[in-house]
Amino acid sequence: MSTISITVDGAARTVESDQRPTHIYAEAKEIVVCKINGVLKDLWTDLVEGDSLEGISISSPDGLAVLRHSTAHVMAQAVQQVFPGTRLGIGPPITDGFYYDFDPANPFNPDDLEKIESAMRKIVKDGQRFKRRVTNEADALKELASEPYKCELIGIKGGGTDETNVEVGGAELTIYDNLGRDGQAIWSDLCRGPHLPSTKHIPAFKLMRSAAAYWRGSEKNPMLQRIYGTAWPSQDELNGYLELLAEAEKRDHRRLGQELDLFSFPEEIGSGLAVFHPKGGIVRRAMEDYSRKRHEEENYEFVYSPHLTKAALFQKSGHLDWYSEGMYPPMIMDEELHADGTVKRAGQQYYMKPMNCPFHNLIFQSRQRSYRELPLRLFEFGTVYRYEKSGVLHGITRARGFTQDDAHIYCTKEQMPGELDSLLTFVLNLLRDYGLEDFYLELSTRNPEKSVGEDADWVEATEALRKAALAQNLELVLDEGGAAFYGPKISVQAKDAIGRTWQMSTIQVDFQLPQRFELEFSASDGSRQRPVMIHRALFGSIERFFGVLTEHYSGAFPPWLAPVQVMAIPVADTFSDYLSDVVKQMKSAGIRAELDDSDDRMQKKVRNAQMQKIPFMIIAGEEDVKAGAVSFRYRNGDQKNGIPIADAIAEIKKTVADRLQV
Ligand SMILES: [Zn+2]
Ligand SMILES: [Zn+2]
Repeated sequence: MSTISITVDGAARTVESDQRPTHIYAEAKEIVVCKINGVLKDLWTDLVEGDSLEGISISSPDGLAVLRHSTAHVMAQAVQQVFPGTRLGIGPPITDGFYYDFDPANPFNPDDLEKIESAMRKIVKDGQRFKRRVTNEADALKELASEPYKCELIGIKGGGTDETNVEVGGAELTIYDNLGRDGQAIWSDLCRGPHLPSTKHIPAFKLMRSAAAYWRGSEKNPMLQRIYGTAWPSQDELNGYLELLAEAEKRDHRRLGQELDLFSFPEEIGSGLAVFHPKGGIVRRAMEDYSRKRHEEENYEFVYSPHLTKAALFQKSGHLDWYSEGMYPPMIMDEELHADGTVKRAGQQYYMKPMNCPFHNLIFQSRQRSYRELPLRLFEFGTVYRYEKSGVLHGITRARGFTQDDAHIYCTKEQMPGELDSLLTFVLNLLRDYGLEDFYLELSTRNPEKSVGEDADWVEATEALRKAALAQNLELVLDEGGAAFYGPKISVQAKDAIGRTWQMSTIQVDFQLPQRFELEFSASDGSRQRPVMIHRALFGSIERFFGVLTEHYSGAFPPWLAPVQVMAIPVADTFSDYLSDVVKQMKSAGIRAELDDSDDRMQKKVRNAQMQKIPFMIIAGEEDVKAGAVSFRYRNGDQKNGIPIADAIAEIKKTVADRLQV
């Protein structure tokens, strides 16, 4: 047997020429796929002289994607076993799982999913090898004559979307055969691979649900049935994921929004457009008031701008060139018609604003600006409207109308590094004040193919952002080439109470808008200079941040944000008057207190207050009345007895003022 020289994970090795990665990694059970010369390949791939081999662990992003796609592949095999004649669509991996689209005789029901799942378990136990076979268009079309969707994919080979690329995106057209113990193909699928070495390498999986989905995402195409599933490197990881889903479901802000009477999306208004109810209004106002106060302390100036504008403003800003798909369509105003309906005087196009920046630029430009005024920090709670596709809308975290806590900072080049540094500190501290603690930062740098502005400006701004980020001692992730065409940015990613990451604030340098608007200030030497413009939204939008906080706190807001801070519950009716007076005192001390004087029994009242997640229950009975005191009962059931009324008020006020959780 001849030998070949290859590199294995960076080290030179000489191996026999019939050795494949599956032999080389025989002892490394976590290696389920590999890269050969940088390209992801099956472990069964033949090696040649000079190859550079890299083992890919099942727990790495590539490994997880291959695990999940291979499980989708097994699911398709099981579906055709259990429901013969079902036609196949596509089956890509997605975040935390996979799906596969099918055209079955009838839509799947939960019982069907169980049947499919147990057929999958048999296939996994069988340990069928995934074998790659190169074919050509003519042969594939013949072989797959009974699979019209696959045939359609063969027709668009290379020109597909990311998702269809799973099947046909490779340089060659390939079919994978699942081999039984006797080496015979049991089942085959058009697929570009790669896959796990065999089905027994799937450690843990679960089918989640089925849903209707149009073939290749277009409503002009037939409606297929999509089954979603998930797969993990171990049963423990699968269990952990299912627990996280259950916890996320309990915390879902759309559900809590209804249970706690915070907001709703009335059908009559339209999707993605929320109304806030009185209780949600209190939370929102508390969020806004605190933000406003902190912005005042940081020398922001408050401005206001209208919700709609003539098209010319968004032509000038460029939004109509590169953002029009995200905007609501225009309305025509002031059009005059002849009696016969023909146009006498053409109307004006008006647009709802998707962003506030152009308005702030007009405010900057409303008079001559001097260097003495810079940095000029314009702040607005600006409501914007964006035409999001209905499929991506998600409660108040992804809506069509929302209010940004938006600011634009105009400064000199020299001021920019200091401004970015203090801005980032301000942003992070404010997020901490709302109860988020775990952050990392992402720096998006220039894409040289697609950007405006001078090289030197980009370097300077990117370095200033990097320095500001490093000064925070937080993890910094590079998003190389990920910046918008008009400037680099930092985004703040926050982890919530159950470890999910949310993109919160962004700090964006802009080289484009000051140019388009020809913004200028007079410098100390009398020359006209262009300011640097920084966009920054801190919450992103108030609605979205509201949704994130609702899920972070699972609706149990800290007292400073809670719609009702105190619920007074008498042990019996006779103590109602006493508590009514306590509530009055609390209200005049600025505490949001209520008395439950309903006919319910005390235990029911406690349960109701707990369901409403009210931070303080104050309870009074015989002894409390005698002592001029109340008892505290907290959401977790803990109780503190015999607190004099004045002390109780002082304690609640302090908790609110210090924004503490109880
Ligand atoms: Zn496949
Ligand atoms: Zn902006």
